[in-house]
Amino acid sequence: MAFLVKKYGGTSVGTVERIQHVAKSLKEAHDAGDKLVVVVSAMSGETNKLVSMAREVQPAVVDVRELDVLLSTGEQVTIALLSMALKELGVDACSYTGAQVKILTDDSHSKARIVSIDTKRIEADLDQGRIVVVAGFQGVDEQGDITTLGRGGSDTSAVALAAALKCDECQIFTDVDGVYTTDPRVESRARRLDRITFEEMLEMASLGSKVLQIRAVEFAGKYNVPLRVLSSFKPGNGTLITYDDEENSMEQALVSGIAFNRDEAQITVTGVADTPGTAFAILGPISELNVEVDMIIQNIGANDTTDFTFTVHRDEYQRVMDFLTSRQEQLGAASITGNDRIAKVSIVGVGMRSHAGIASRMFKSLSESSINMRLITTSEIKISVVIDEKYLELGVRALHEEFGLAESEVVA
Ligand code: ADP
Ligand code: ASP
Ligand code: MG
Repeated sequence: MAFLVKKYGGTSVGTVERIQHVAKSLKEAHDAGDKLVVVVSAMSGETNKLVSMAREVQPAVVDVRELDVLLSTGEQVTIALLSMALKELGVDACSYTGAQVKILTDDSHSKARIVSIDTKRIEADLDQGRIVVVAGFQGVDEQGDITTLGRGGSDTSAVALAAALKCDECQIFTDVDGVYTTDPRVESRARRLDRITFEEMLEMASLGSKVLQIRAVEFAGKYNVPLRVLSSFKPGNGTLITYDDEENSMEQALVSGIAFNRDEAQITVTGVADTPGTAFAILGPISELNVEVDMIIQNIGANDTTDFTFTVHRDEYQRVMDFLTSRQEQLGAASITGNDRIAKVSIVGVGMRSHAGIASRMFKSLSESSINMRLITTSEIKISVVIDEKYLELGVRALHEEFGLAESEVVA
């Protein structure tokens, strides 16, 4: 008997039949004595549909408050249908929106952060032997306005509920049976990992592996919530996200996984003065535009001038290009160029800390596939490179091979 939060993503509740299938497996766990809080996403594709309707109505700037009211409806559909399906099976269940169980967030619409959860009502239902079904991805701010937690945010709702309720484990059920060495949709030989450290999972998530929302991993690490990724279609133990321990690190692979992100664009400003304040003159106004900058690279100056390259989200590319071009003279830049057909590929592994030569293996492998690296950044447990988007799959597979990550290979 365990106290669990189980979260089901969009594909897992994508049709009425799938919702009924989820209800059946919940009934089995409930019959076996588990105490269950269930978090669900909107049916697959629904959130995208709602976003595009909003864009049709407000093409220039979408009102974020109203957008959150709209987007939260996707999850409201699934909580009701799942509770009905459970009741049809003779299991007592009750559905709640984020507001009903007071998932209190800040007021940053579309990327709100959870502040607290009032667990009283949930606990009372659990005491009555009910399964509690909560809408993921949404909360309410102090004004009582509906907020949403950013795309993929149901993962974070689940972890936050598990932390608030002090559950034994938070289980994320999805359309893959765990966290793989890389996205199995790109490399079919990717291998499921039995365990991955929080640190590595955080890097993988922030570098583009969307299997878990980054905030969910942060939250689980901070509040010590045991987190597991499992398939809702195939039985198994999935992948446990753990703290690194001595025993694990002894057999740690050099590289645990490969993440990638197609959502970035690169901008280069050349021939600016190599003096204090230049980086600020370029990047300061960009942050005021509320645009997040990811990689930043400045060359060693020559002839008192220098070049600057940075990356932004692809959706922001045109806005930033237009803005900088309009200020080219003021910045004293020789040119402003960009490319929005790039992709970032990263290798991640805590094993990198204690081993030299991993970067050169990465560079050699990409060069053998004739892939040009445009930008490179490193940190203690990851190396990221920007390459042309058209070579993304080729690059991921080459690196997967180089670091022996495939199913049949022995990890170096
Ligand atoms: P859900 O709708 O259940 O939240 P997501 O689409 O958000 O599911 O996440 C699952 C998807 O994440 C998988 O279908 C897979 O393509 C993708 N993915 C990316 N990187 C990885 C990885 N390293 N391991 C497993 N899945 C990954
Ligand atoms: N339905 C939301 C989304 O598509 C939240 C989630 O699925 O986690 O992003
Ligand atoms: Mg998801």
